[in-house]
Amino acid sequence: MPIRQLPETLVNQIAAGEVIERPAAAIKELVENSIDAGSTRIDVTIQHGGKSLIIVEDDGMGMDKDELPLALQRHATSKLPDDDLTHIASLGFRGEALPSIGAVSRMSVTSAKNDEAWEINLEGGKQTSFKPAARQKGTRIEVRDLFYATPARLKFLKSDKSEYLAVKDAIIRLGMAYPDIGLTLKHHETTTIKLPGQADFYEGRLGRLAGIMGKEFQDNAMEIHADKGETKLTGFASLPTLHRGNAQHQYLFVNGRPVKDRLIIGCIRAAYADVLHRDRHPLVALFLDLPYEDVDINVHPAKTEVRFRDPQRIRGLIITALQHALLENGKTASTSVAQETLGAFKPHYAVNQNQGSHSGQPLPSAGGTPYRSSSLPTGMAQAVLEAWAPSARFEPDPQAADQAMSAHLTEEDQAAHSLESHPLGSARAQLHETYIVAQTSKGLVIVDQHAAHERLVYEKIKKQLAADGVKRQTLLIPEIVERDPDDIQNLLERQEELQNLGLVIEQFGPNAIAVQEVPALLGSKANITGLINDLIDELEELESVKGLSERLFEVCSSMACHGSIRAGRRLNQEEMNSLLRQMEETPFSGQCNHGRPTYVELELKDIERLFGRRD
Ligand code: ADP
Ligand code: MG
Repeated sequence: MPIRQLPETLVNQIAAGEVIERPAAAIKELVENSIDAGSTRIDVTIQHGGKSLIIVEDDGMGMDKDELPLALQRHATSKLPDDDLTHIASLGFRGEALPSIGAVSRMSVTSAKNDEAWEINLEGGKQTSFKPAARQKGTRIEVRDLFYATPARLKFLKSDKSEYLAVKDAIIRLGMAYPDIGLTLKHHETTTIKLPGQADFYEGRLGRLAGIMGKEFQDNAMEIHADKGETKLTGFASLPTLHRGNAQHQYLFVNGRPVKDRLIIGCIRAAYADVLHRDRHPLVALFLDLPYEDVDINVHPAKTEVRFRDPQRIRGLIITALQHALLENGKTASTSVAQETLGAFKPHYAVNQNQGSHSGQPLPSAGGTPYRSSSLPTGMAQAVLEAWAPSARFEPDPQAADQAMSAHLTEEDQAAHSLESHPLGSARAQLHETYIVAQTSKGLVIVDQHAAHERLVYEKIKKQLAADGVKRQTLLIPEIVERDPDDIQNLLERQEELQNLGLVIEQFGPNAIAVQEVPALLGSKANITGLINDLIDELEELESVKGLSERLFEVCSSMACHGSIRAGRRLNQEEMNSLLRQMEETPFSGQCNHGRPTYVELELKDIERLFGRRD
């Protein structure tokens, strides 16, 4: 076949596949154009998730009779005055969006400038009319039947609902970056986003974020502020006590552009590592502004990925800024001393992983696993002693204390003594209402009661599920949980599957659900609102990833977490010992379902080394 130059319409259709793979992407491009045009108000209207109709209307600078047809041509842009790709101050620059959208839809662009207005119409990339129009200010772009001209692409679109949610997300992200611009979204006659323009860009930012991420975020947000040369990081991040089950509520912006960047996500994880479970995610909106030459935004046509010239420097800046804020807010839980101390212990979850706990050997044998042949480094020993002796508030269980005082061997002593032959030993005390200290025949064990119980509940739910579904318990007073109407709908769509998991919910007005029944395993004291919030977040991610059944166990994990004994609850000796015995019988009990160890063990010979009794 001869080589031929492809016709322009076809080229545009091909480009459309990359730039605007779905309605949300087209809307993002159109709204970005409106922002670049200096608009103070942008109104978006859609139908069928944007598949049948998109209208974006703004009050920006508009285009005149000469500019209008040019704007629809490929690689025509007003935003690169000097051919320099390294100085991109606008959101657009590739001159691809309008011709691409035009090539695959029926598009109408009306724009006003210098007291006159013109309207241009296209069908599948071909101009059908160009005429004067009535319009006072700004631009209105109407896109009907997106992808009608490329049926193959049309087939890949998802349900109206999913497309709508993607549109909403795109608009929300731009809304966060431009608090001074008023933004609305209307889907089938219902206004679902209404963000009034804030008077001041920086002052108004938290207000705008609150309008999107919720008042809870506003009330629990730490302000982030850091500079390094010309690079500036601003924004807000939640206190460690406010977190969600996924990272969807982490919004990142580079030079005013919403991005999805792994580097920054990694920085957030690293900064919070000390204060948050690995599976929990803070809510964050971070704005990084840096010289144009330090970042390449031309990595992908959709412009959601960026490349930094010096990633390490950016990493350092972000982590330091977040950690500084965490420290300032006095919530850092872990110090280096505590870490070194833990280093001297053997986290048994690692052993469990290696040996594979499936083997019917839930716990490693009590026989000493040598972990360090030489004696402890002096610094570490010091750290251990510091962590133990002077500062640790030791709160022995009264019963245990009495026993220790007694010179006689009572029956109870004998019982306790016999318990020591169990791998997790005999409970002797509870520290800080969080840790159980048990004496074993080889040394001592410290158990994190919440982590341990979480694992037990999780395994129990799994077992019960496998056997015969989950038993439910009716709440005396239904718990009402309020969320965004779309989130509520999302959850209600899973009503039946959730019921099988023991959770019975019903719609309660547009903004809320009523929880009627909960899995009996959770008990009446479970934090139901927390559970529902986590489920909504998990289900949101689910849609595009895996089926519900595959995620069922992860849902169990959330349930387990909310149903477990909280740290901070005082347990009596019987309860503690019963927990230890259950742990011994439960597979994977060396780690909670967030991957944290549930207990650590220190052997007598290690303690003796610490005190110089042994070398
Ligand atoms: P880019 O944004 O990369 O320049 P587009 O195809 O999105 O490419 O737009 C082409 C040009 O059309 C823009 O450079 C701008 O001059 C003009 N334009 C597009 N939308 C608007 C708008 N809403 N208001 C004013 N001018 C616009
Ligand atoms: Mg553009």
